[in-house]
Amino acid sequence: MKSYHKELWFEVPTRRAFINITPQVEQCLAESGIKEGLLLCNAMHITASVFINDDESGLHHDYEVWLEKLAPHEPVSQYRHNTYEDNADAHMKRQVMGREVVVAVTGGKLHFGTWERIFYGEFDGRRKKRVLVKIIGE
Ligand code: ZN
Repeated sequence: MKSYHKELWFEVPTRRAFINITPQVEQCLAESGIKEGLLLCNAMHITASVFINDDESGLHHDYEVWLEKLAPHEPVSQYRHNTYEDNADAHMKRQVMGREVVVAVTGGKLHFGTWERIFYGEFDGRRKKRVLVKIIGE
């Protein structure tokens, strides 16, 4: 069995953003040379997510509005976590949007449904953060 891993770095200039990282993940798969197996992709930070959905700007706006209703950033004083930080909402947004995705690798490609793409969800940006890609198979 072959094994491959790589850490991808992101530095989002805003507090929140959604980034399509499918091209970087596909590049990892190509580098791995693995044709049949499983690919894990996870955020390595507790205020960021990796998830799969549609690459559609209206949907990303809807996520932003929905997440802000669920866990508003302001007022920061409403959260007990915010004693020396202001990112309690980011922890909660990450919890809802998830930590990782697992994708089947078939014939050297990500075995997606038609509209599936992999996204990095940032909820407390303006600093460098990592995403792990781990691939196992043959
Ligand atoms: Zn925190």
